[in-house]
Amino acid sequence: IDRAVKTRELNAIVTPTYSQARKQAEVAAQTWSRTGKSTTSARKLEGLPIVVKDNFCTKGVHTTCASRMLENYVPPYNATVVQRLFTQGAVLLGKSNMDEYGMGSGSVDSIFGPVRNPWKYEFTNTRTIPEGTLDTSSLLASPQSPGEALGTRGLHRSVHPGTGGSNPGLHEEGAWRVAGGSSGGSAAAVAAGICFGALGSDTGGSTRNPSSYCGVVGLKSSYGLLSRHGLIPLVNSLEVPGIMARSVDDVNTLQNIMAGTDEHDSTTLTDDRFVTSDLPEDIDVKHLHIGIPKEYHAPGLSPDVLDAWRRAADKFEQAGAKVTEVSLPHTQYSILCYIVLCCCEVASNMARYDGIEYGHRGQQELSTEQMYAMSRHEGFNEVVRGRIFAGNFFLLRRNYEQYFLKAQRVRRLIKDDFTRVFDEGVNVLLTPTTLTDAPRYDWFTAADNRTRNEEQDIFTQPINMAGIPAVTVPAGLTSNGLPIGLQFIGQMFKDKEMLTVAKWFE
Ligand code: GLN
Repeated sequence: IDRAVKTRELNAIVTPTYSQARKQAEVAAQTWSRTGKSTTSARKLEGLPIVVKDNFCTKGVHTTCASRMLENYVPPYNATVVQRLFTQGAVLLGKSNMDEYGMGSGSVDSIFGPVRNPWKYEFTNTRTIPEGTLDTSSLLASPQSPGEALGTRGLHRSVHPGTGGSNPGLHEEGAWRVAGGSSGGSAAAVAAGICFGALGSDTGGSTRNPSSYCGVVGLKSSYGLLSRHGLIPLVNSLEVPGIMARSVDDVNTLQNIMAGTDEHDSTTLTDDRFVTSDLPEDIDVKHLHIGIPKEYHAPGLSPDVLDAWRRAADKFEQAGAKVTEVSLPHTQYSILCYIVLCCCEVASNMARYDGIEYGHRGQQELSTEQMYAMSRHEGFNEVVRGRIFAGNFFLLRRNYEQYFLKAQRVRRLIKDDFTRVFDEGVNVLLTPTTLTDAPRYDWFTAADNRTRNEEQDIFTQPINMAGIPAVTVPAGLTSNGLPIGLQFIGQMFKDKEMLTVAKWFE
């Protein structure tokens, strides 16, 4: 809590729940000192702080999607994944900032203002914390601590962005780096050491992109493994709850707790055998076949990222794994295909916000139509309105076949690319997560670059089209001193195999 307060300039948390969290943590501390780690009754996340993206419903706590439309919405229930974390004793520290309704790749389009990437960020706040110190003493003070009981390696890591030090040139307004998006608040919170783990959502990369920019682990599970009940929908057919933490073991722990059938989400798997268990400590990579998709040598890929990617492939090869180039020829269509599918589902999902049943109500009540129009004009930002507009255009009877149906067919081709390489014997694919490290805020938001923001999703979107799992793992720093991630892509419901490989690399 202290750290969250000290790093509040990051704008990662939009609705803090600190006093409630403090009370819960005190109760948890008593439980730990009473029961100890060996007691089976102890819950797996007892007292561990988590942050939840503001598009997951949290009972009694504002859930805004960073939009004026839902500014005053307080849900009467918890999203299933949130409830499952609470059931294991997790403590909610607050709701995290995001791009409005999850539309964006920078966490800059929010009614609360942009999220700042903690890396190389120079705090103006005088009460900063010295570089590289994460005060885990409260968590790790006793052998009975939850951190030790879980073997949560992430908690022991000391490498994370400093919140002090001097970075000449970075102090000027706009020179700081974006956190990535749309789950930028969650990624920044994990990177700044505020919480053990965080929930994001991933429709086209929104968990993996900010995780890469902020130097944390970000998991997009197989579609159907985690319930979407209580996740305010953006693109139902593509999105899954995302998990962020500082180690692969930690995201795996959180996934295990949340995964499995949910009667409130008919797309969840009814077969719990795919729910993963703990990951093995070590594996023999000699039997592993890693695929390197040649189309991922995309225009705009920075030399630093390319270098990290090559080094990672070499590491596997030197350890005896088979590393081969593979082809995913339809990758080039994925951004266009995503835009059409995303806008169509957005147009449909956003129809519910009419100012009567749901959401902000415009004041002008001349006619019902005008009231709808005012409510939606005032409630949604330009990005959201633009996508609704485009989606309704694509869905017009005369356009439906040409856009929506065609995009569905292209989506199938993208999925089939993955199926084919996995059928040919590849276990896991290794790719970059983003083209570059985190862009500067002033560059990212310059009018000329806004349309290019989506380019960074090129490596992440195809995975959502295919429904398969992917995880981004920190892979060192660029020459700018900023983190970048590499992405492992797994086969459908083989999340555990993918995470095991990612853990070996980590
Ligand atoms: N950047 C993509 C978009 O704006 C992905 C967002 C997401 O995954 N929620 O739609």
